[in-house]
Amino acid sequence: MMETTGNIVAKTLPALPGVSPEILSAWLAEQGEPAFRAKQILEWVWKKKAASFDAMTNLPATLREKLAASYRLSALTHTKTQGSADTTRKFLFRLHDGRYIESVLIPANPALYGEKSDRRTLCVSSQVGCAYGCKFCASGLAGYTRNLDAAEIAGQVLEAEIISGERVDNLVFMGMGEPMANFNNLMDAIALITGSETLHLGARHLTISTSGLAPQIRKLADHPQQIRLAISFHGATDEVRDRIMPVNKKYPVAELMDALAHWNSSKKQKLTLEYILIKGVNDDLNQATILARHARSIGAKVNLIPYNTVEGLEWERPALSHCRAFQDVLKNAGVTATLRIEKGHDIDAACGQLRLKQETAEGIV
Ligand code: SF4
Repeated sequence: MMETTGNIVAKTLPALPGVSPEILSAWLAEQGEPAFRAKQILEWVWKKKAASFDAMTNLPATLREKLAASYRLSALTHTKTQGSADTTRKFLFRLHDGRYIESVLIPANPALYGEKSDRRTLCVSSQVGCAYGCKFCASGLAGYTRNLDAAEIAGQVLEAEIISGERVDNLVFMGMGEPMANFNNLMDAIALITGSETLHLGARHLTISTSGLAPQIRKLADHPQQIRLAISFHGATDEVRDRIMPVNKKYPVAELMDALAHWNSSKKQKLTLEYILIKGVNDDLNQATILARHARSIGAKVNLIPYNTVEGLEWERPALSHCRAFQDVLKNAGVTATLRIEKGHDIDAACGQLRLKQETAEGIV
């Protein structure tokens, strides 16, 4: 996507995919422009996906000039697409300050996985890096740099649709970063993603994943939109969770379960507990028994994910037979438990593998 403004100016201007209809309307009023222009501009940005301000042909030239002087058309510059053998694609984006983020488009693949649905899921990043330092996760390896703003979050969906030429119909906030630690920008982005004048994707098709920030879980539970929630659980007891997830020191299992019980009482959507199985760390069958108890208490389903190798980390994936035994403990206790077939493993795009390889990013600039 081309920007019609120069680089230096463009860095300081707000990006249109982060501007709400209300703010755009107020800006138009300030410019002495009629109110109906807001709808036209939003259509160009979100529906027609204009490649430049000049392409917005039903706007007067003077308004296009004012827009170009006040806004960037895009928050992200697409620099690379990496394809996977299973049709998953990873997009690398450069931000205005030279940082990089990634998003992963995961189409359902009936031929490979026997999936019935034809939905296309985008895994969205919420921060540059991550401060939470989960021991098994690639995203936290380089530490935290900054929060993404609403335009950089919502813009990932827009760009993925432009690059792929396909409609994204399902979002998971499971890319780089802890989305709940960037709560306000995340909720602003969600308003743009779900808004009828903007991207118009149903809140039920959005899943936020968190490592367990109890206060934000409560806050989201009280939010009127029916957004889905997945918890990176990865350990059924404080002893195991403390070892691999530093966040557990702040919000231990009992406090997390309290917040999830609150969620469960306010929302219709079933919670998902994500559990990465790591050999010799959290895959003891006793953990499965305790996990089953937690899941049952909040009516949650469990998604088991055999660990994905991360370069630079020592953890290993348990044997498939052991993963199945862990799953059986849950099933026998009456819990819905799936053993996830990871997609994108060959391009480091599966859960906990989103990490910018510096040499990749530098090679593209
Ligand atoms: S699992 Fe999530 S919260 Fe933990 S380090 Fe990775 S990105 Fe951060």
